[in-house]
Amino acid sequence: MKLTFFGTSHGAPEVGRFCSGTLLETDGVSYLVDCGAPVDALMLNRGKRFEDLRGIFITHMHEDHMGTLPAVLKEFGHYHPTAHGTFYLPEDGAIEAFLAWDRAMHGGYDANRVSFATVKPGVIHDDDHVTVTAYLTEHIRPFPSYAYDFYCKSEDKHVLFTGDLRGDLSDFPKTAQDLHRTAIVSELTHFHVEQHVDTFAACDCDVLIFNHMIGYNTEKMPDIIPKLPMAVHVAADGDEVVL
Ligand SMILES: [Zn+2]
Ligand SMILES: [Zn+2]
Repeated sequence: MKLTFFGTSHGAPEVGRFCSGTLLETDGVSYLVDCGAPVDALMLNRGKRFEDLRGIFITHMHEDHMGTLPAVLKEFGHYHPTAHGTFYLPEDGAIEAFLAWDRAMHGGYDANRVSFATVKPGVIHDDDHVTVTAYLTEHIRPFPSYAYDFYCKSEDKHVLFTGDLRGDLSDFPKTAQDLHRTAIVSELTHFHVEQHVDTFAACDCDVLIFNHMIGYNTEKMPDIIPKLPMAVHVAADGDEVVL
């Protein structure tokens, strides 16, 4: 399994960092977790094939996580006529609004090759390569809201993406500490990392990967990393992590 971090910035791009989008590749197929700009261009620049994409999973509808979704859908429709996949959005209303927007922009999509599904808590996707389970987070208030973390499981690798979380980290996934994961990919923006070292130290994983970086946390990482018992990777744009 390989993860490619197309964008590792916080809620807006910065010099050298784009918005959120991570490609998970396994068994010759791929999946996108979040779709911030400009994931479509970065896919092409890195030689990633839209024909290999099986699922696009959106943690929540903040623009930094889904802003380039129309362009990715257009790639499926106009430029890669054999591509097929499912777009998972976190609420019914988001799908309705997005499809209305797409009709206005591009006249609609090919329903024979592209499908849409609403993320609900529980298993949302299961194919021969990956099972994806969604858990609600409380990132968007009031709760219950429509923000999720995603647990992606292949035959022998287990990766948890926290998505965006609350400022007090009270919704940090309990499964990160209760069950072993090959990798945990955690955001690093909506809290002050030095206040939550114990939470991260309790994670049961081979490697803890931080992305969705913001400056006031990034600069603290040299002090934080030695306090964590697992391997730690602080992601930069373009990084590939092989699990
Ligand atoms: Zn965000
Ligand atoms: Zn957000």
